[in-house]
Parts: sequence; C-alpha cells; structure tokens
Amino acid sequence: MKTTSFSQRIISWYGQHGRKTLPWQLNKTPYKVWVSEIMLQQTQVATVIPYFNRFMQRFPDVVALANADIDEVLHLWTGLGYYARARNLHKAAQLIRDNHGGVFPEQFDAVMALPGIGRSTAGAILSLSLGQHHPILDGNVKRVLARHAAIDGWPGQPKVEQALWQLAAELSPTTDIAQYNQAMMDMGAGICTRSRPACAQCPVALDCQAQQMGKQQDYPGKKPKKTIPAKEAWLLVIRDRDNILLQKRPPAGIWGGLWCFPQYNTQAALQQAVTTLGCSVAELEALPGFRHTFSHFHLDAQPLLLTLHHDADAIAAKLQQSATPQAAVMEAAPSLWYNLSQPSRVGLAAATERVMAGLKPSAIEE
Ligand code: SF4
Repeated sequence: MKTTSFSQRIISWYGQHGRKTLPWQLNKTPYKVWVSEIMLQQTQVATVIPYFNRFMQRFPDVVALANADIDEVLHLWTGLGYYARARNLHKAAQLIRDNHGGVFPEQFDAVMALPGIGRSTAGAILSLSLGQHHPILDGNVKRVLARHAAIDGWPGQPKVEQALWQLAAELSPTTDIAQYNQAMMDMGAGICTRSRPACAQCPVALDCQAQQMGKQQDYPGKKPKKTIPAKEAWLLVIRDRDNILLQKRPPAGIWGGLWCFPQYNTQAALQQAVTTLGCSVAELEALPGFRHTFSHFHLDAQPLLLTLHHDADAIAAKLQQSATPQAAVMEAAPSLWYNLSQPSRVGLAAATERVMAGLKPSAIEE
C-alpha cells in the first residue's frame, strides 16, 4: 500500500483539527502575522491572544507602531517577558516606515534583514500571510522532524540544524504551504508535545522512527548542560504613600529600557545609598526575596522597602545625584513615581512587576 506523502497527511490533519480562527488568522496581513509570530516565540497561544488584541487595537498598522513611544510598546508587552522582542518589533517598524514606505516588505531577504526576524520567522510571515513557498523550523517543527526522522543531536549545533532545515525544505509541499506550515506548528504544539506526545492521534505516526523505537524522549537531542553563575541584586523599594520610585534602565543590557527599582550589587552599597539620602538603615524592611533566571545567569534578588514620611521629591532627586559606581543603575537615570492605584503606561521589568504585585495600595481614607 502506498503511503500518502508526509505533507498530505499533515495538511489533511489540519483540515480536521487545526486552528483557523485565531485573531491573527482572520483577515491575515504580514503585519498581523509578524506580531503574532514574535509574541508566540516562547509564549503559549492562550496567553498571547489578549496581548495580541490589545496590541492591534492600539497599533493597527506598522506606522502606528513605528510612531509610538517605546515606553508604550513595552507597557503593552508587560507580562509577556523577553522584552528584546518588543524593542526589536518597534525598531523594525521604524525601519519599515523609513525604508519601505510603511508597507511590510514582501521579499524574503528584506524581511530577514529586519531586527528580531530569523529565517524561520521570515518564512512563517511570508508563507502564512502571502502563501510564498518557504520552509519553517521553529522549536515545535524541529521536534516533529527530529522525532519523525530520528535525527540525532542537539538542534543548537549547526550540523544538526542544517540537517533539519534540509528535511524541512524536502518535506514542504509545492502547494498549500500556508496550511502545511501552520499545521506543522500546531502539530508540534498540540500533538508532538515535549513531554507526552499523543502518538495515537498523530497523522505521521505510521513512519515515525522515534515512535517505532519507543524513543520519543530522545529526540530532539538535549542541550549539553552547563552551570550558570548566580549574582546578587539588592533592590531599593522607595515608597511614598501609594507611589513607588522607579528608574529607567539603559536601552542595552538586561531589562533594557524597562523601569526598575534602584539596584545595587551588595547590601552595603544599598545601605550606603540609603544613608546618603539622609534616611536610616534601620527603617529598611525586607520584602520576600526571589531568584530570577536569565539565559546566562541567575539573579538572586532581595528587595528592601524604605517607606518615606517626608520630602519624597527631595529624596528622589538626591538618589539620582548619589548613584555610586557600585550601583547597577546608571547615573542620571530618568526616574518616576509609579502610582500603585493608577499605574503609569510604562514597561516594567519582570522583577519589578513581581515585587509590585506584593505592594498593596493603601486603604482609601474616608
Ligand atoms: S508519532 Fe509521536 S513522536 Fe512521532 S511525530 Fe507523531 S507525535 Fe511526534
């Protein structure tokens, strides 16, 4: 019996089970597909939907996004994490406005040249929105292909990645590429899942080598383990009634362009700053500490609360002048009083958001 081709089985599975009414799948445009693809990197569909809808309402087209203030873009991204994605979206929108007349480019190389867009994302945007013939290879597709053909090795290694790209290109159908690519992403997300693939419901189980060997968990190969270092961060949470003092991080580096608490590398440096402000170290109150993990290090954060009773603005000004070399914040960082009851429309770093969640607005006085 002749087996129908890999792509035919995938496309027919998509016809019956695939998702076709997600917000970015209706009235598709390269702009909508681009924003959705960037949001979906590292984030689940259900989480992305409300963010996507808010984003489209505020920035209905590339030019609206390009003309927006980065603080507002980051504000609408707060909670999605991986903020470099939002900064790149904004930067790319400005390039499209300035170099492409505000129209999302339709040539593969021009799309690839935009910040934050790699080969797979460029292929996804142009195939899903315009039906252009490009293979894709995001994390979900890598998993399906690595298992189906039992491709050994960690996909982060260039030769493994190259083998997967080659396979992705060979299996791509000449027609219905949009459905096929969408189906492959859906298959990886919903059927060929990381921990418990639903092989009984898989349209390509018949000739899946990992499944036949019962070795689904061995594919794709794991990244070689490396231990990452831990650093300390001492966060100074200055509170004046319902206002919390925040400073803006420089555009590059961790939490670039986001608003954070003044941050110090040691407890002594933080205490020194508090003394310089004319406040007493004894007034500091420890808030729950936590670990935030970046790709290359852990940050063990300890927030300390300083509640002000007078001269809040004078203290904020002093803090700005007293940035020490030990402080992780830059000198003359822009600062703002963030109101807990009426939050400003700015992007908050994950650690800032986490601490803020534990700070309740004070009760309203009768
Ligand atoms: S048979 Fe199982 S392991 Fe193979 S592609 Fe399908 S879901 Fe993945």
